[in-house]
Amino acid sequence: MMKCEKCASEIPPDEVHEHGGRTLCEDCYLEIMVTPKTCDPWAVHSAKNTVSKEPVLTDEQQKIFDLIKAEGPLPLDRILTQLGISEEAFRRNFATLRHMELAKACKMEGDVRFTLFDE
Ligand SMILES: [Zn+2]
Repeated sequence: MMKCEKCASEIPPDEVHEHGGRTLCEDCYLEIMVTPKTCDPWAVHSAKNTVSKEPVLTDEQQKIFDLIKAEGPLPLDRILTQLGISEEAFRRNFATLRHMELAKACKMEGDVRFTLFDE
C-alpha cells in the first residue's frame, strides 16, 4: 500500500492524491488545497499598489514630480541641472512616473518637455 509523504499514513488506493510530485492521502491533499498560499510577496505587493490611491514614489521620483509640478513643462537639461541627477537616473525614474500616469513627455516648439500627466 502507498504511504502519504506528509503524514506517513497508509493510503487506500482510491484515496491516493498526487500533488507537486508528492503522494498524499486524502486528508493531507485537502488540507493543502484549502490552505491559501502565503508566500507570494509580489502578488501582495502589486495588489496593494492597485488599491492604493496614493502612489508611493521614491525620493528621486518625488523630486522630479515636484519640480515639473512647480515649474513644468521643463526640458531635460533643466531638470538634470536643477535636481543634480544623471540623464540615466532621470529616464529610469521618469519611466515609473509615466507608468503611474503622473507625468508625461510632450513637444513644445519642437523641444521635448516633461510635464504632469493631466496637463
Ligand atoms: Zn497524509
